Amino acid sequence: MTGEQRLPRPLTSAGSAALAALLAEPVAALVALDFDGTLAPIAARPEAVVPHPGAVPALVALAPRVGQLAVLTGRPAGEAVAVGRLADVPGLVVAGHYGLERWADGRLNSPAPHPGVASVRLRLGEVVAAAPAGTALEDKGHSLAVHTRGTADPTGTLQALRPVVEAIAADGGLEVVPGRLVLELRPPGIDKGVALTQLVAETADAAHASSGAGAVRSVLYAGDDVGDLPVVDAVTGLRQQGVLGVVVCADSVESPAKLRARADLVVDGPNGVVSLLQALVRALTSAPG
Ligand SMILES: [Mg+2]
Repeated sequence: MTGEQRLPRPLTSAGSAALAALLAEPVAALVALDFDGTLAPIAARPEAVVPHPGAVPALVALAPRVGQLAVLTGRPAGEAVAVGRLADVPGLVVAGHYGLERWADGRLNSPAPHPGVASVRLRLGEVVAAAPAGTALEDKGHSLAVHTRGTADPTGTLQALRPVVEAIAADGGLEVVPGRLVLELRPPGIDKGVALTQLVAETADAAHASSGAGAVRSVLYAGDDVGDLPVVDAVTGLRQQGVLGVVVCADSVESPAKLRARADLVVDGPNGVVSLLQALVRALTSAPG
């Protein structure tokens, strides 16, 4: 930490207004962050991912300074807590499986898996076994993900597998959601935009129950992938309800151009996100009140 870096300035007036509101009234702010590619560099295999060395210290410092801190990830919530070393971040809520699961205060709340996951698991495993070497099936319980990052031709393999993966998903009533060299089969109607809007409502409810206060007035969200795009639309919807929002793109060569184009602020991957969190901590520490 240099102590020199200042808060970056959002590219949009809506983003600037949200950041200003967050700084002016941090107790009414929700800060939500994607994990892979945002708080942690992408690795060849999901189990090999480790958080950026500055990520957890920055989260620990930021958590008591904002109304609610959350991690919103496609991973199972418990796995994100373990891989991300997030258990010691005070008051953190981890929304896993794109919001299907909640982890908070050491407790996991998880619904029953969609029956389609069980019905397609075997067939998908056979397809992956017959695919080029390095193709991997990740079983997340609530969803299944086919990864091609470990193959000789990751993009070509992904494209070749897509039609058959889509057919299998359709048979199970699941959706195929593409990501960074991954095709994920998951229950329909679940995305990070829906999850973020739910987190805003839950944060307001929790604050109301504990103190009688509690509207969320600003949201900051950072993500890096196509799975984060629904958040942009959710933030647009939240703005119409009077909640200011700033969407941060944790940029990399693999980030979708759409996310880069629609974000209010673009930073350089997990390094940039950690710097942003550190700058927020400094700004909220030096600010009076
Ligand atoms: Mg990500």
